[in-house]
Amino acid sequence: EGFLPFEHEPYFNFKDEQVAARQRAAFTQVREQYLGRTFPLIVNGQEVQGEGTFDVRNPADTREVVWSFQKATPTQLDEAVKAAQAAFEEWRFTEPFQRATIFKRAAELLRARRMEFNAVMTLENGKNWAEADGEVAESVDHFEVFAREALRWASGKPVYPMPDEHVTTVYEPLGVVACISPWNFPSAIPLGMALGALAAGNTVLWKPASETPLSSYLMIELLFEAGLPRGAVQFLTGTDDVLGDPLVDHPGVRMIAFTGSKEIGCRIYERAARVQPGQKWLKRVIAEMGGKDPTVVCADGDLDAAATGIVQAAFGYSGQKCSACSRVIVEESVYDDLLARVVEKARGLKVGLPEENADLGPVITQGSAERIQKYVQEGQGRVRLLLGGETPDVGERVGGYVAPTILADVPADDALFQEEIFGPVLAFTKARDWQHAIELANDSEYGLTAAFYSRDPRKIDEARKRIHVGNLYINRKCTGALSGTHAFGGYGMSGTNAKVGGPDYLFWFLQTKTIAQRY
Ligand code: NAD
Repeated sequence: EGFLPFEHEPYFNFKDEQVAARQRAAFTQVREQYLGRTFPLIVNGQEVQGEGTFDVRNPADTREVVWSFQKATPTQLDEAVKAAQAAFEEWRFTEPFQRATIFKRAAELLRARRMEFNAVMTLENGKNWAEADGEVAESVDHFEVFAREALRWASGKPVYPMPDEHVTTVYEPLGVVACISPWNFPSAIPLGMALGALAAGNTVLWKPASETPLSSYLMIELLFEAGLPRGAVQFLTGTDDVLGDPLVDHPGVRMIAFTGSKEIGCRIYERAARVQPGQKWLKRVIAEMGGKDPTVVCADGDLDAAATGIVQAAFGYSGQKCSACSRVIVEESVYDDLLARVVEKARGLKVGLPEENADLGPVITQGSAERIQKYVQEGQGRVRLLLGGETPDVGERVGGYVAPTILADVPADDALFQEEIFGPVLAFTKARDWQHAIELANDSEYGLTAAFYSRDPRKIDEARKRIHVGNLYINRKCTGALSGTHAFGGYGMSGTNAKVGGPDYLFWFLQTKTIAQRY
């Protein structure tokens, strides 16, 4: 469609000592360049101060303040909405090819700075090198994918003809889109939502999670450098008092694109339904929320491949992914075998400093670690604890370090089976047979991702039909969706299933105009 064929951005090979040395140098550079700095809001293209600031801490050692950001005021929220509305009047009429060209240029700029973006992310949210790199590579992919999507949606769709009218169906943008994002994917998630909005011709209020604002700030600066008009994105940081409910309720906001917890997603969905004085539309909401993602292993499955996939999906980034495997459901006859293999592999994982590329770093905060430990401590009385439970030794450092934890014989009505724990905690459950395993997989209010291991085409066919999730992976792990290929988003209480990176994502950010013309 006017651009070269697409290829996913390859990952860095950190086993290569030269590549590793470059990543280490990027940490030094990022510390020199950004440590201790205070960053502004961006409202109406201007860098502005808020009322007071807040500190961002390194989760690997929370005594270290890495950088600080502004607390926006209610007046600044208002100004940002007005500025975004004003910018919309120009951006909406830009040629899709121009939008695509900006995104292509941004992809080039980001490629050149991937290691810097990796390092910033590690210092904000504790991802190790490979996890940070995977996400920044996904961000490059987003630029490339959304450049093509902007063009693909530019031309409308054909209609059934009638003789005396020329009828076209075209897509038009909505207006101001508030993009509200979580800390666990501080680069790819806000970027994916914002590019969805921008590619379609909307303007954006960009509200990152307060744990991880620099990953957003640098991405927005990069977009401006690539040629995005400075009014097209307003960057707002601060407290949920000002940027939570009031942002959602604001009558100037046309749409809310949210990714985060079920609790906040449901709250936004409900609040946005109320029409505020002066509001001239029904707000659109997309809300992508949590998961309790199962891996089903049939007796005929490749147990070693399953064990590897499970360990990667359960303990990568300490299980703090919406797509993380948190339940393993296994046919009785291979249950003990698989459990032993998973425990064995997980035992080899080292907890330590993400900056030094440990297998598992800290979870996002000490509060989060306490919440996770409580699940484990309480669960221990009810089920078998096979791995974890102790606090890993990380020396003097202050942080929420949690060991990889495996609990076995977890019944389906247990909190460990039903609730999103969002940490490195894996529950094993025994199924009578493979059909029962599929039933158990579906015994959840969530429906985000699932993995299914079997070599039997009949079972695979059943799994494809019956497993109730937005992203089903057969004979591979349930994390690691790639933009443009694995359209991402769940069923049930995992959200609105908007499917970021998918062929229909832009439709959520558009409205459809039918024009019938007679001559
Ligand atoms: P969270 O819901 O606590 O916060 C998300 C964002 O919402 C933050 O920016 C926060 O400041 C903002 N917020 C808080 N109160 C608000 C309000 N009243 N109105 C509007 N916005 C408000 O989530 P989190 O802890 O940052 O992220 C973890 C959660 O995100 C997990 O449940 C995880 O499964 C989910 N998640 C889902 C996906 C997905 O694609 N389905 C991807 C990543 C994370």
